[in-house]
Amino acid sequence: MKIYSKCLKGKQGYASYDSHWLPCCWLPNFGEYYENSIFSKPVFDLERHALEQVARNDAFREFIKILLKDPEQAPYTCKKRCSFDSKSTSNDLN
Ligand code: SF4
Repeated sequence: MKIYSKCLKGKQGYASYDSHWLPCCWLPNFGEYYENSIFSKPVFDLERHALEQVARNDAFREFIKILLKDPEQAPYTCKKRCSFDSKSTSNDLN
């Protein structure tokens, strides 16, 4: 499997209900992932950090590294939405 991350190719980021930045709007559609993910950590809180900081912090770099180098460990949403072999549409996840 290879993930072609739309968030690295211009897809807009997203601000959650509790002011945390995420790389796309698909991730929070799966609450169980967001609540337990790195994006729920304070380092992604837009009330504490500027957007330029949260989008370039070490935790996000680590997330990108997983997407690019170890895609099997990526979140389900990333595999479903951005993987090369995915046949899914947005309706598949509802
Ligand atoms: S689903 Fe994952 S890989 Fe795709 S745009 Fe969102 S964060 Fe990036």
